[in-house]
Order: sequence, then structure tokens, then C-alpha cells
Amino acid sequence: TADRIYNFSAGPATMPVPVLQQTAEALIDVNGTGIGIAEHSHRSKTFTAICEGAEAACRELANIPDDYHVFFVQGGASLMFGQVPMNFLTPDKTADYLNTGSWSKKAIKEAKLFGNVNVACSSEDRNFCYIPKDVSYSDSPTYVHFTSNNTIFGTQFAVEPECPDGAYLVTDASSDIFSRPIDVTKYGLIYAGAQKNLGPAGVTLIIARKDVVDSGSGDLTTMLQYRTQAEAGSLSNTPPTLGIYMMKLVFEWIKGQGGLAAVAERNEAQATKLYAALEASSLFSGTADVDSRSKMNACFVTGDADKDAEFVAFCKQRGMDGLKGHRSVGGMRASIYNAFPDEGIDALIEAMKDFEAEKG
Ligand code: PMP
Repeated sequence: TADRIYNFSAGPATMPVPVLQQTAEALIDVNGTGIGIAEHSHRSKTFTAICEGAEAACRELANIPDDYHVFFVQGGASLMFGQVPMNFLTPDKTADYLNTGSWSKKAIKEAKLFGNVNVACSSEDRNFCYIPKDVSYSDSPTYVHFTSNNTIFGTQFAVEPECPDGAYLVTDASSDIFSRPIDVTKYGLIYAGAQKNLGPAGVTLIIARKDVVDSGSGDLTTMLQYRTQAEAGSLSNTPPTLGIYMMKLVFEWIKGQGGLAAVAERNEAQATKLYAALEASSLFSGTADVDSRSKMNACFVTGDADKDAEFVAFCKQRGMDGLKGHRSVGGMRASIYNAFPDEGIDALIEAMKDFEAEKG
């Protein structure tokens, strides 16, 4: 691993090295079966045990009660933007959406195809650089949808929003799932693509209250009804077996780190250090409001696009990749999910100082 570089990619993103090493071995022979993990039947004893193990590890990690399903689907968070309202919203119902970035907007667009949407708040007036405090809900929404961490704009809900009586919270937690403790009981449904904090792309984790799943439309094509995979333990059809295997290893890795509280502490320390360096700099500045800053994606700029590009290239020469910001914010974005090493934060801060001294 000596020649691995610091990968600040927003996703797919850095994974824990022990998980990668174990997966490399398991691709040839998993659990001494003489067959690789990607070659086992999904109906085999070996894989069904892995799938059950992944669910169990997830439940343990987040303290998920029995009245919730935990299951794995495909299609990414983008499919969930449509699948959530397809299951739970009808033309006579309203869902409230908190508009905090590009991914929220995409979710809103899909929901409008199925029912009434009340955009209960928006931070679009300042290019999504903050999490709005004032939220105005409709009279009786079926659910409230929010994006817990806004990957592109580097903002994050410090705590989940209040949920009106009779409604349930739905969250797109793709970019901060299991980066801190989560009180699952506050949610009707949580969805998260794996490729930032949980594993490789191609598998999406769903944690959903059983009565919410039961309330979903029964008129949809089978695979788009959440009940299908929820009731089949993710094995209604061939699931992304390799992704589920790796997710299980990541859950176990998080547990080995001391659990969600422990990884939250490290994430907090890394982000605090990086933001402090940005505050101390006279060249670089963060783009998100201080009280809304993400602990997963730190966005920053020099104020000069050419200089930003120069800094990204400067970092690349020092063994740091993936720092170019999303085009809608520009500048730089340091994505520092659970598996991102402390040394990479130090390397970035040193590069900022050296660049500033040389070119600032
Ligand atoms: N939601 C959020 C918060 C994201 O960060 C992303 C991916 N960057 C998506 C949704 C879309 O995920 P996918 O490409 O897996 O559909």
C-alpha cells in the first residue's frame, strides 16, 4: 500500500485498505470454499450467510430495531429519487422536500411525477452554501425528504430536521451514511448508495420501517416495490453479491474502529483540522457557511479559477488526487469519508501552506 495516493474523490471513494486486501483474496477463494466471491451462486450457503451477515452487521452498527427492514438494492440513489415517491406518493398526497442541493433537486423532480410536492425550504438563493433554518411544512405531508449531506456543495445537516406529526422522514444519506451515530427510529426510510462510505458502486443500502414498506403501492412492477427485496432478504433476484460482501467487511471494519461514535470522532477531528487550516489561510477560503459545513466534503476556493487549477495540479504532483471541485461550485473539494487517512489531511494542509508561500 506504500504507493497508494491520497484519494479525495467524492465517490467512488477511498476504501479501508484491509477491506480491499480481504476482498482481493476473496475474489480467488472466499472463506476457504475454493470459489471466489463473485463466482458463488447467490443461492449458495456461502453467499446467503454473507448476505445475512451483512444485514446483521448493519443492524448491530446502527442499533436498528426489529420493526425495520435492512436490505440491498441496485440502481443507486438516483433510482431511489423516483422509487420513493413511486411507492409512497399518490396524486392526492403531498410530500415535503428540503431543497439543499443538486441531489435534492433531482429527488424533487422525480417526486413531482407522482404527487404533490411542497418544497419546504431551499438554499438555492446562495448556491446551496447553507442548510436553511426556516422550514415551512405543508398541512399533512406523507413524508419529509432531505439530503443529509450535500456532496457537491459541502453542507450537511447537523441533526435531522423536525418531522411534522403523522409524517415520516426519508433521507438520502448517500454521502454521510454511518459517518456518525444515527437514530434510525426517527426515519421511515433511509437510502444510501454504497460508493462513498460503505463499499463499491452498484449496491444501495435501504433501512426502512416495516409499516412504511407495507404502505407502498402494490401496482408497481415487482422490482420497484420495496417489499419485494425487503421480504426476500435482498435475494428476490441476483443481488450485487460482490458489493454486499464488501459492505459486510466495511461494517465489520467500522465496528473494529470502535463503531459509529468512534468514526464520528475521527471524522470530526479531520474536518475541524482542515477547516481551521482554511480559516488560517489568506489564499484559500471555504465556500459553505460555518454552521452548515460538511464533515465529509470540504469545498474551498482561491477566488481565481486558474489558481484553483494550479493548486489541484500542485497536489497531484504530491500524491493527492480527486481534489477538483464539482463544476457547480468550482475550486476544490476534499472528500474525506470514513476510510480517509489522517495523514492525507496533513498532506493537504501542508500543500496549502507551501502553495500559499510559493504562489499566494
Ligand atoms: N445523492 C447524493 C447525496 C450523492 O452524493 C450522489 C452521488 N454523488 C447521488 C445521490 C447519486 O448517486 P448514484 O450515482 O449512486 O445514483
